[in-house]
Amino acid sequence: MLTANGQYATIRDDFFSTREGPLADIRLAGTICNACGEPSLGTVPACQNCQSPDLRPATLSREGKLFSYTVVRNRPPGDYKGPDNPFVPFPVGLVELPEGIRVLSVLDCALDEPHVGMAMVLDVYELYRNEEGAPVLSYRFRPATPSTNSEEKR
Ligand SMILES: [Zn+2]
Repeated sequence: MLTANGQYATIRDDFFSTREGPLADIRLAGTICNACGEPSLGTVPACQNCQSPDLRPATLSREGKLFSYTVVRNRPPGDYKGPDNPFVPFPVGLVELPEGIRVLSVLDCALDEPHVGMAMVLDVYELYRNEEGAPVLSYRFRPATPSTNSEEKR
């Protein structure tokens, strides 16, 4: 189930607050600049705003608001790990967290469901299994409350 050291494999280890325990307890991780307050996702060598190397680690909020979005209708090139053959279009968006960062993320909802300003919540999930059969975790955001459309489909 897990890697040899008892931790989850991830798409990028520095994006996650931990690699152990229940998936619902895992949050996005980043840094905040001590000089200007700029937040960044994951580990960065210097602030992306003022280039200061004086950064502190931060665990980012699970909930945010959808800043903007679009729909990916063509298979991304390269090492794409989502549904394939046939490719399934999916929404992506920028989710703004209370820390002030906008995180680019797949949105786990219907193509016509996203709207600017909607409340979103983090979902850490298994994107695929690696060559050892271990789950590889990624993240996405989903609407914090189910849409009317989703409820009608139940
Ligand atoms: Zn800075």
